[in-house]
Amino acid sequence: MRAGKWPARLAKGLLAIVLILAAAVYWLFYDNRLPPTGSFPLDIAAIRAEAARIPGDKARLIQVETVSHSWKPGIAMVAGTGWAKIDLVRNSYRLVFPTGSIIIDTGFDPKTAAADKVDRFDDAAYRRVQAALDGAMRIVVTHEHADHIGGLLASPHLPRLLPHTILNPEQFAESGRSAPLAWPKGSRAGFRPLDYQGMIAIAPGVVLIRAPGHTPGSQMVYVQRADGQEYLFMGDVASEADNVRLERIRSRLVTDFMTHDDRRAVMLQTMALHRLAAAEPRIALVPGHDAVATAAFERSGLLVPGFRD
Ligand SMILES: [Zn+2]
Repeated sequence: MRAGKWPARLAKGLLAIVLILAAAVYWLFYDNRLPPTGSFPLDIAAIRAEAARIPGDKARLIQVETVSHSWKPGIAMVAGTGWAKIDLVRNSYRLVFPTGSIIIDTGFDPKTAAADKVDRFDDAAYRRVQAALDGAMRIVVTHEHADHIGGLLASPHLPRLLPHTILNPEQFAESGRSAPLAWPKGSRAGFRPLDYQGMIAIAPGVVLIRAPGHTPGSQMVYVQRADGQEYLFMGDVASEADNVRLERIRSRLVTDFMTHDDRRAVMLQTMALHRLAAAEPRIALVPGHDAVATAAFERSGLLVPGFRD
């Protein structure tokens, strides 16, 4: 064998390894090819009609509590963007009506938050969420993951809360299945999930919209305030405002290896939200975990910081 062949072979081998690694990084963090066909129905006229179906006073304001913060690379939450870390917040929302309140999402429970190694857990905020759950006339969650349903399942007053809680069948079946969060023994007995197709009004100006994909039980919550201001709580259909703005979903590392999303469904939902944002720029689209968006909503008064009467 002639001298000089080995370096060439080595170079070819190294090139092959680099190409394979590059392809893997692309696939895991950058791939966001949108489906060329199909669509998610998000008919705002139909949603508004459903919101008007239940008569009565609508919510006059919406409060927010941020229970925990985790710093994660932005590219994990929005494929193909930057590697700089972003503040991933876990929020709970309280719709304040003249006659009571509705809670949307209940934040992380402390045990799951600790297991998840969140960077900051706000005990005082968690206590305020717990107190608000105790006083709520209705409790709903965007989906069954612990950072949305954890505060409910960990409540010491869960048996008292469940008659006021609305879960769809998938949320009920899939929740509390991964340790350390679990339904306390016997607490599931007698609970009747709300099965619905498409959308359903649950209070004046409040509509649940089925959106399975991130999880089987995922739904969005449309809210019309008494003054007409509209909101869409997107849950983790869109965790970040950039998911909608850029039509980019979470990276495959997250969707395929951690949360097991139906990527096609989430992409079609994201595309529908992108179209809605363009057609109806005044609707406040509230992402599931976006600290920057939360702060902007707080500054504009669309969300009022802190659960207080
Ligand atoms: Zn989440």
